[in-house]
Amino acid sequence: MAIQFTSWGAARQVTGSMHLLRFSDGFTVLVDCGLVMGGRSQDPLFGFEPTSIDLVILTHAHMDHSGRLPELVREGYKGEILCTEPTLELSALLLRDSAHLQAKRMASDQHGRGKGRKKGEQAFKKLAHRLEQDAEHCLRSFHALRINKTYRIRENLRLRFIPCSHLLGAVSVYLEIDDSGRTTRFGFSGDLGRFGYPGLPDPAPFPEVDYLICESTYGGIQHKETRPAADVVLGMIRDALGQEGGKLIVPAFSVGRTQAFLMILHQLFEKGLLPEEVPVFVDSPMAILSTEVYRNMEDWLSQEARNMIKMYGDVFSFERLRFVQNMGQSRKIAADYRPSILVSASGMLDGGRIHTHLKEQLQNPKACILFIGYLAEGSLGRQLADGASHVTVDGRTVMVRAKLCYTDIFSGHADHRGLMDFATKTSKDVLKQIFLVHGEPDRMEDLAQDLRNQGYRVELPLRGQVFELD
Ligand SMILES: [Zn+2]
Repeated sequence: MAIQFTSWGAARQVTGSMHLLRFSDGFTVLVDCGLVMGGRSQDPLFGFEPTSIDLVILTHAHMDHSGRLPELVREGYKGEILCTEPTLELSALLLRDSAHLQAKRMASDQHGRGKGRKKGEQAFKKLAHRLEQDAEHCLRSFHALRINKTYRIRENLRLRFIPCSHLLGAVSVYLEIDDSGRTTRFGFSGDLGRFGYPGLPDPAPFPEVDYLICESTYGGIQHKETRPAADVVLGMIRDALGQEGGKLIVPAFSVGRTQAFLMILHQLFEKGLLPEEVPVFVDSPMAILSTEVYRNMEDWLSQEARNMIKMYGDVFSFERLRFVQNMGQSRKIAADYRPSILVSASGMLDGGRIHTHLKEQLQNPKACILFIGYLAEGSLGRQLADGASHVTVDGRTVMVRAKLCYTDIFSGHADHRGLMDFATKTSKDVLKQIFLVHGEPDRMEDLAQDLRNQGYRVELPLRGQVFELD
């Protein structure tokens, strides 16, 4: 008998992380339980019996790692969900929000708009109630552990969370399992972040392992920008606002990116590098809530961020900043052509308050859309970045006259070099196997090639493929 490893999600694709370890005594651990995002089809079945899982470990709060946990609990999972404190707090926000969005989508798929609307509204309320109950039920199983501390979970399993700087509270997972008369060490990278990310402490060193399950999102890709984030943002703001006064619109994910961008803006304002009269708006209800979580988790922020709290009382708020409270304010700001900086969600323009602004400002040649995150194939953001002259926003065709720009400085993922550094921490003589997950096939191949060239054994698991590890 041996330990078995199986990837049930993020196998040769980026989203839907779900990895399973089964010990020879039958004890079964699931690391992450994420949704498949970006319009790709979701397998309605897990591929395993939810009742057969004994323990869930969650690396971070992003929905592609946590989004199917409510379903897992509804289908019979009864154990704990171990994570860090910020992951618990952010998951509570995101899972509740996701329940609401899913219900909306399902009700509109079933009943459409127009005629069946009333029926649709009733169906929405019922679904929303059920999905929200599922989320609440699942959140009661969350249990927060500290980082860099070894926990004995059961007689033959020890666990340590190691911060990886991808998102507030995000960790890589280190496991020691005594099985079949020996100790085997496992590493799960989770999503690997970067050194020097605004607001977050750097990734901590990861121990040697026998088996590594490593993400590969940026395999073969190097981050291009080497200047400090503040310099990049300052240059872009100056270009966007220009001589005649333009408007800068920043689509950003509400959790993580928005806070990083606000921290940099705050620094620029404090240094007097931005025009005092230009207001900054954050228009995203989720960003307001998640910024509050960041604010309450001072211990989890970088030293630089904590120094800002000492000096200015806050990292993410400053005098020129306004959090937009309602749709009425949102529409008013969208229709105002005076110079301003606006941060709104969603980052890929797939929905959210940003649509109100796009409908008005995409046709404004003095506006500039600054993309600071990943733009998935098929998203509205990608259409714009690819140079579309017209796009459809909420059913309305809008001409694109605004300027578009992009920076990778706020990307929350390590690039090829960062992934290589992480994966090769254990020498090839000790590391028995690297499993690459969480990447498009081309990106995985690029990373696999480089690792194999250095003598490492690399597998790219298929969904459901069982590996016997001895
Ligand atoms: Zn993530």
